[in-house]
Amino acid sequence: MILYTLECDRDHQFEAWFKSSDDFETQVKRGFVACPHCQSVQVGKALMAPAVSTSKQKSAPPAHPVNAEADTGVALAAPDPKMAELVDTMRRLKAQITQNADYVGKDFAEEARKIHYGEAEERGIYGESTVQDAESLREEGIDVYPLPVLPDETN
Ligand SMILES: [Zn+2]
Repeated sequence: MILYTLECDRDHQFEAWFKSSDDFETQVKRGFVACPHCQSVQVGKALMAPAVSTSKQKSAPPAHPVNAEADTGVALAAPDPKMAELVDTMRRLKAQITQNADYVGKDFAEEARKIHYGEAEERGIYGESTVQDAESLREEGIDVYPLPVLPDETN
């Protein structure tokens, strides 16, 4: 026997015993399982709260900070006042970074390495880099931060 936590289409939760998961499927399909609260036969297994299975779950890989464009691009475009504020903060932050650093364009990875290994003048730089480049830079112990991609720069 298996005890399932079920949920009807009106979000009532209840428990019911079945011989097997097949038995459960069959009974639900035939409308033999009704919600005790509202008699609805539109029932299915309730979704478990994700917190209960943390010990079994593999932790998701951390979001890739370099991939700021993909991760935050959509969110930043949201017409939410809080988002607008955030975009504003990021814009100022970005201006601060770009004012105090040299733009090195696509040579970013190469230049960052030169600075790290003392082959170039130590200074802040910013430019373009692939996720792979940024990753290998970090593996070499070089601090790489993604610059936020702002909505008005996506042209
Ligand atoms: Zn119900």
